[in-house]
Amino acid sequence: MTLSIHGVTITYGSAGSPAVDDVTLEVATGEVIALLGPSGCGKSSLLRAVAGLEPLIAGRIEWDGRDLAGTPVHRRGFGLMFQDGQLFPHRDVAGNVAFGLQMAGRRDYSRVSELLELVGLAGYERRPISTLSGGEQQRVALARALAPQPRLLLLDEPLSALDRGLREHLAVEIAEILRTTGTTAVYVTHDHDEAFTVADQVALMRAGRLVQTGTPADLWAAPVDAQAATFLGYRVVTDDGGTCLALGPRAVRVAHPGEAPDATGVVTGLTFARGERLALVDVERWGGQVRARTGAIETEPGSAVGLILEADGTIVLEPGSAD
Ligand code: ADP
Ligand code: MG
Repeated sequence: MTLSIHGVTITYGSAGSPAVDDVTLEVATGEVIALLGPSGCGKSSLLRAVAGLEPLIAGRIEWDGRDLAGTPVHRRGFGLMFQDGQLFPHRDVAGNVAFGLQMAGRRDYSRVSELLELVGLAGYERRPISTLSGGEQQRVALARALAPQPRLLLLDEPLSALDRGLREHLAVEIAEILRTTGTTAVYVTHDHDEAFTVADQVALMRAGRLVQTGTPADLWAAPVDAQAATFLGYRVVTDDGGTCLALGPRAVRVAHPGEAPDATGVVTGLTFARGERLALVDVERWGGQVRARTGAIETEPGSAVGLILEADGTIVLEPGSAD
């Protein structure tokens, strides 16, 4: 184990409930862990504590078994990257990346070009920062953070300021770069797709607490409760028998004529997502609206339709896991 977080609690001022509440977590060498959760759940506070920027009220953070309390930020050997890359506007690209090396007391500037190549910016050395797009600036920030080969890289919502398509694309690239460089990393995001793309392990947080940890596949296959399922992208409904169902994005489809439906409802509207036509269907029995794939079936608002639940993508949650 390299990074161990034991019972860490963080509070601000006289705030009633802690921002981070008794969190225990381990990150192994070479592993990328995502801290995932809604805004305000304590992700950044925990990350800043690991960096040495936030004092602990209780608990301890260890690196290779040694308590980091008393080790200042610059002596921890950790790299940092934020939503806003915080580049130096008056230095060019090479100057920004070289800063990462200077901080580490190195002078191996041939590494600058190597790093720019790694992040897909070969030949950008002399470009002024002001001429770069948001995505390119975050690539420079990543190169700068990786320059001193940090033993741990801490990333706080590095893609949140970028638009959706670019975010997805860069998340895939960052995952690849972290893997090829063998970088151990803690990656903070509120976006489940991003967490699942970059991380080996996902730590799901809520109101300062860790609610579930596992591989992306583990979390997707068995969210710990209804709230976790909803946050991960399921539509959670309770049927009239009290069973709590988590419906994945492709779990429900409109029944063919003559097919025995699992539920029936009324179409309230039509939408289109990821190349598929979807009907918004009010299902009384489930107490709410779901999205159902229509395939080639023609439906219109106001029509009654049957719905089929695909086994693949539908999860039955434990009784009592609803909020
Ligand atoms: P996240 O990164 O998940 O959005 P944060 O760690 O930033 O969450 O915040 C967790 C909680 O702590 C929130 O309620 C937030 O308002 C509070 N908080 C964060 N930073 C400070 C601060 N410097 N002073 C006071 N409260 C803070
Ligand atoms: Mg944050």
